[in-house]
Amino acid sequence: ERKRLKSLKSTAATTRCGTPIELYANIEGPSDIEHVRANGANGIGLYRSEFLFLGRDGLPPEDEQYEAYKAVLEGMKGGPVTIRTVDLGRDKMPKWADTSNSPNPALGLTGVRLCLAEPQMFRTQLRALLRASSHGHLRLLVPMLASLHEVNQVLFHVEQAKQSLLEEGVKLGDNIQVGGMIEIPAAALTVGHFLKRLDFVSIGTNDLIQYTLAVDRGDDAVSHLYDPLHPAVLHLIAHTIRSADKAGVPVSVCGEMAGDPRMTRLLLGLGLRRFSMHPAQLLTVKQIILNTDISMVTPIATRIQKAEDADRVRSLLADLNSVGT
Ligand code: PEP
Ligand code: MG
Repeated sequence: ERKRLKSLKSTAATTRCGTPIELYANIEGPSDIEHVRANGANGIGLYRSEFLFLGRDGLPPEDEQYEAYKAVLEGMKGGPVTIRTVDLGRDKMPKWADTSNSPNPALGLTGVRLCLAEPQMFRTQLRALLRASSHGHLRLLVPMLASLHEVNQVLFHVEQAKQSLLEEGVKLGDNIQVGGMIEIPAAALTVGHFLKRLDFVSIGTNDLIQYTLAVDRGDDAVSHLYDPLHPAVLHLIAHTIRSADKAGVPVSVCGEMAGDPRMTRLLLGLGLRRFSMHPAQLLTVKQIILNTDISMVTPIATRIQKAEDADRVRSLLADLNSVGT
């Protein structure tokens, strides 16, 4: 079976009805690139840059960050590389952060909020990213957006960093895109506004589920309530995909749902055409895509969106996953 999957490495991810699907990989650093290439991804959909910031006493210097970003951009040989600006807080707390006075880190200074509160840290990272941009196709991805005000502030910082680098004579890539994670319900509900300012969006289902259902993604006592198939979660995902399509802005899913083969057909049926996942999942998901006719799964996906509870969703999902196989 593994061998059969391996043979799909260079096969284009096209549905049975001929719709091309883009498959991207999630990585934690340059050392994952080999694994990504071995599984034939179209590019990097999520590089979690915070791994450079964890397990050390201070902040990573600009040059060290630059080398890591450059290595990934070069390793992907011109393919799109989506690097998420540092997403600390919540489940990823660095040693130096004083979180003792945060009563609830999941609702505290995290993701883009921490970056905007620590402009020196943010500027250093943006400079390292922009310097690396001439080595490939860089896309910046901003985590944990809740309001448009944050988008505007980030775009201002990016513009400032670009200007100061240009003044220093640094060469920048000519197609640097800025996108946002849709992983807080407020952003999903008002995604239309975000789509006017961003070049792309990526749905972070891990956090979207946690914040929509008020279930801590790392708390065993409530893990049975952490449900990707809750109608409210599906509604926000469907709404985001539909809005992005209407606005002509690329949308992907980069949370765990994108790499779960039980969810592939459902996401296709909700209109998703770009998936980003752990490299180990790429070929399994590709196999399902090759074996799916979108016109066959769309009617069931539509019924799933009208389902009243997750049990009903689950029974329709079983139909969805067995149709035409
Ligand atoms: C997510 O929230 O779905 C996501 C991809 O980001 P992370 O898991 O790193 O929070
Ligand atoms: Mg997240």
